Amino acid sequence: MRFSDILGHEKPLNIINAYIENSSFSGGYIFSGPEGIGKKAVAKIIAEKLNCTAQQDRPCGACSSCLKMEKLQHPDLHIIESDTAQIKIEDIRGLQREANFRPYEGAMKVFIIDDAHKLNPEAANSLLKILEEPPADSLIILITHKPQNIFKTVLSRCKVIRFSPLAITLLEDVLINKYFIDRLPAHFISFYSEGRLGLALKLKDSKIFEEKNRIFDSFAVAGRPLDRNLTGQSKEQLRGYLNLMASWFRDIYLLKAGLPERELMHLDRKNDLLKLMREFSFKQLDSILAAISESMFYLEKNINSKLLLHNLGVQLWKA
Ligand SMILES: [Zn+2]
Repeated sequence: MRFSDILGHEKPLNIINAYIENSSFSGGYIFSGPEGIGKKAVAKIIAEKLNCTAQQDRPCGACSSCLKMEKLQHPDLHIIESDTAQIKIEDIRGLQREANFRPYEGAMKVFIIDDAHKLNPEAANSLLKILEEPPADSLIILITHKPQNIFKTVLSRCKVIRFSPLAITLLEDVLINKYFIDRLPAHFISFYSEGRLGLALKLKDSKIFEEKNRIFDSFAVAGRPLDRNLTGQSKEQLRGYLNLMASWFRDIYLLKAGLPERELMHLDRKNDLLKLMREFSFKQLDSILAAISESMFYLEKNINSKLLLHNLGVQLWKA
């Protein structure tokens, strides 16, 4: 990936670029903004740019440094993350040790701490000591979607750079023009990811577009109650399913209210939506959306999923 590929995040990139150009790094940065927005992708691209050996247009994406960075095999790129609820002091030890050495191959060591709000007190304290005397030739980037949970002492030692979602239409253009995705899937993914570039890039390689249409074929269009295969699914999958259902009925609602078609998430199913629009009154749609929202609430309360789907089915088809 190149700097110019990160469309829409020009503002944070310009800030970082200015620091790179003036060699005025302060040690620590916090990239803050919603999940899946592309913060980590930007952090990696900065690591790539700082260590690229090309004379211009860095990162070139082709030199041995860039290739190692992209495969996450560069000895000067360190990503600290934790699958558990906390980032512990053991996770930070490597940073403590490594920060004292000069870069192995590149110009700059880059440490990326993902989900930095998970730093526990000991780990945060240890990080604070490093940030108080930032090692030369090192850049520390903390990534978070919960900046309010980062220790104030750590926060005060870092420059905070905020990332915002892209406008949906801009993201759609990026997916079409930079990633060569067809217009209708690009439209759906832009809406579904709510303008979050990182999430959209993940979704473009998934089967979500085909999958959502399979769901709508079986339940909404064919008028069959609910997919029986759903009962064995995980909470995460059911959450996704309920979200899709809500978006489907929201689309019918919007169309009925006379909103322009480009506002529809499921623009690719426009003809089905137009047909269904005539079959539902606003009142029915209101109660369907309320029933879905209630199911989401009970899902989070760990209610038996079979019962939950059964109840939702009853609510949907009486409407
Ligand atoms: Zn390069």
